[in-house]
Amino acid sequence: MFDYLIVGAGFAGSVLAERLASQAGKKVLIVDIRNHIGGNAYDHYNEEGILVHKYGPHIFHTNSRPVFEYLSQFTEWRPYEHRVLASVDGQLVPIPINLDTINKLYSLNLTAFEVDQFFASVAEPKEQIRTSEDVVVSKVGRELYEKFFRNYTRKQWGMDPSELDRSVTARVPTRTNRDDRYFTDTYQAMPLHGYTRMFERMLSHPNIKIMLNTDYRDVINLIPYNEMIYTGPIDLFFNYCYGKLPYRSLEFKHETLNKPVHQSAPVVNYPNEHLYTRITEFKYLTGQEHPKTSVVYEYPQAEGDPYYPVPRPENAELYKQYKALADALPNVHFVGRLATYKYYNMDQVVAQALTVFNALQEQEAQAARFAPDRQLVTAESN
Ligand code: FAD
Ligand code: UDP
Repeated sequence: MFDYLIVGAGFAGSVLAERLASQAGKKVLIVDIRNHIGGNAYDHYNEEGILVHKYGPHIFHTNSRPVFEYLSQFTEWRPYEHRVLASVDGQLVPIPINLDTINKLYSLNLTAFEVDQFFASVAEPKEQIRTSEDVVVSKVGRELYEKFFRNYTRKQWGMDPSELDRSVTARVPTRTNRDDRYFTDTYQAMPLHGYTRMFERMLSHPNIKIMLNTDYRDVINLIPYNEMIYTGPIDLFFNYCYGKLPYRSLEFKHETLNKPVHQSAPVVNYPNEHLYTRITEFKYLTGQEHPKTSVVYEYPQAEGDPYYPVPRPENAELYKQYKALADALPNVHFVGRLATYKYYNMDQVVAQALTVFNALQEQEAQAARFAPDRQLVTAESN
């Protein structure tokens, strides 16, 4: 008998498996339909011996000390600050847009103060910032919006930024200084031996059994368990009864090139050219030395594995309907990016999973307070 059946061995499922096994003494079965643990953060050495991220570049960054300290139990870190260039008007310039982006793009020599004035002169003030178009146009004006954001977003999401919540492009700030880091979080680092190694250490507890290549729907009636943690797509769990929740997909084209370096930055974005959005060169991320180099191209797709929830009002409404069904199931706990339909980064999923663990502990403590005799009987009969 398992105390918990956990569906999905990504961050959400693995954090909960680890906590439940090591801190609460629970017996856990973690099931994943894929042939590996780690979910979308899975990495592996390819046929040439280069460490690559199977599902696109995963860069760890967080402002949460508890999240960083929690993961630090399972990995050492390699300090890494991510940088991205965008190919615009035949040049490679820093994104997020900063002072150097503007000076390079327009052959200017502005100061931080002057670039601030420049943004103010081109910005289109909006009464209400509602969409992903509003966010950018109200800060840097229409021209820069069109050069950097409009087409990238259309390619990535299959819709215009005016149809997407503001939260999507708000992920990318605008700067008047020369800071060209993609993130400014307090903690920015990559797991020294990769994500998969970190997940192996999280899941190595004797109370955790792992079952790969398994759709939970094929085993759910065969395996005795008390509670379920579900981290797959929420609409799939309910058999799409209200219709499909849109998730955006990607196709990853991996390539290994017979040269030590391919591009001048870890990631180059292509807002306006090509069918792909960006090229990532993994050795920058991992620090690995190798005479060859591996890159991945990301081609956005409407169909395929679900990678991104699509933040827009009608989808939030549909999600709410599914969430009401989820809330009515006290023994199934929905956690993670797909199950709670949130455009979460890895650290946010870890934080959410730790919160769910605390809530489960609290629930159990309460149940024990209200029914001490029942607990005693269960404990004795075990
Ligand atoms: P997942 O990792 O998706 O895990 C869910 C698991 O459930 C999967 O392994 C899946 O196989 C399994 N599953 C689904 N259905 C079933 C079923 N029927 N039966 C059994 N198992 C099932 N975050 C960052 O912080 N930094 C980044 O740089 C970053 N880059 C990203 C780049 C890309 C291209 C993508 C797609 C995401 C990126 N993220 C990044 C986000 C990050 O991947 C997620 O926040 C995190 O992996 C979510 O973890 P999760 O456990 O919620 O979901
Ligand atoms: N974006 C853009 N141009 C860029 C970078 C980002 O238009 O050069 C927009 C796009 O809509 C993208 C969103 O900002 O989906 C968030 O970018 P981020 O790099 O955070 O996306 P992720 O890494 O999650 O795919």
